[in-house]
Amino acid sequence: MIMSKETLIKSIREVPDFPIPGILFYDVTTLFKDPWCLQELSNIMFDMYKDKGITKVVGIESRGFIMGPILATRLNAGFIPIRKPGKLPAETIEESYDKEYGKDTVQIHKDALDENDVVLLHDDLLATGGTMKAACELVKRLKPKKVYVNFIIELKELNGKSVFGDDVEVESVLTL
Ligand code: AMP
Repeated sequence: MIMSKETLIKSIREVPDFPIPGILFYDVTTLFKDPWCLQELSNIMFDMYKDKGITKVVGIESRGFIMGPILATRLNAGFIPIRKPGKLPAETIEESYDKEYGKDTVQIHKDALDENDVVLLHDDLLATGGTMKAACELVKRLKPKKVYVNFIIELKELNGKSVFGDDVEVESVLTL
């Protein structure tokens, strides 16, 4: 497992100064491009959540839309998108937040989840935690039974995990 995680980390492309100067961007497209890495990532994430009774995987636009549905099919769960404003066609609820570069809002369909759901919220990367915290608050307003939070990559230095309360379990596949 450790060997495989090293291989996964090596396949992440680091792009300096994207999208603005001073940001080191971790590009997961190079991870998804490699069939072995994609399969390994899917296997690791499936093992992490296969016994949790997940009924819905909720992915955050847009890089949460890649592993999110892959994981949902493996867990026999549904997939729900959290999107930027103006993209979802039916009635939505929303949360606004500050991020590493700029301010943003996320929306979810009001009927996307109910009190019988066990939710796995997924995004590619945890930086400050602002995006996922807002997503978490959105999901909680729809009153699911339990919320799990998952990232492919966690940037440890930014301590993003600290923004979450004890009521959600936050885990990442890779820590950088
Ligand atoms: P944050 O809200 O600060 O945790 O930022 C997380 C969101 O911004 C995720 O959707 C990431 O895809 C994106 N993001 C933030 N910082 C980076 C980074 N250094 N490299 C790649 N993506 C990032």
